[in-house]
Amino acid sequence: MRIARFSIDGNVAFGAVEGTETVPDGLVIDIIKGVPFADFELSGTKVPLSKVRLLPPVLPSKVVAIGRNYAAHAAELGNEVPDSPWAFFKPSTSVIGPGDPIVYPSFSSEVHHEAELAVVIGRMCREVPRERVKDVILGYTCANDVTARDTQRAEKQWARAKGFDSSCPLGPWIETGLDLAAASDLAITATVNGELRQAGRTSEMVNGIEDLIVSITEAMTLLPGDVVLTGTPAGVGPLNVGDEVAVSIEGIGTLTNKVIKRG
Ligand code: MG
Repeated sequence: MRIARFSIDGNVAFGAVEGTETVPDGLVIDIIKGVPFADFELSGTKVPLSKVRLLPPVLPSKVVAIGRNYAAHAAELGNEVPDSPWAFFKPSTSVIGPGDPIVYPSFSSEVHHEAELAVVIGRMCREVPRERVKDVILGYTCANDVTARDTQRAEKQWARAKGFDSSCPLGPWIETGLDLAAASDLAITATVNGELRQAGRTSEMVNGIEDLIVSITEAMTLLPGDVVLTGTPAGVGPLNVGDEVAVSIEGIGTLTNKVIKRG
């Protein structure tokens, strides 16, 4: 099931996206009664996807992201792969939805895209053993770990470089139908203005999804709606004002955002 969060006529709701993308107006949203983090029912009330505004599919209390989790990406920036997963935070205020603008930060002149598989947590959890990881995952979505690369090089902590407003596009929806094995071998790409920049597979992760959840929850509690970004494949590169960046993941969908100048 593809679970979207959306607004229509000033109301916000979750819904299941049904239908096919190949037909105009072929996608509809069946509105969910309640929230998708517990047992829920579909209302049967359906609205065309074209009539709603998609929002970030969750409002996470925190986004925990992993650095240097694809060897080819670590190498392209002249870095070693760390011995164990390197986690950092992107704040809740960095999250934007599909179609929302990435606002170029005033303090940077080198902003990069990073296409990433995002894991959406479905239940409160800590100290999750490997065999239970599948039980705490609601589903998967696309993410762009937008990074002020010059700031990242200049500052030891990455809070500004990777935490500025609009630096965490998520969406377009949460795919709940992928099991761990399927999510661990998906094609992932980033394009800028239609030109292919990044192309990899989630199977290239140094530490897989289970390893990451085990490592993160050794240290902290994850809440329903929290998001784990799993690292980016090689091919990161600059975004400029006016660019349109799209992250696509096989079996999930495409997350598109435009870069705008600060107003
Ligand atoms: Mg990243």
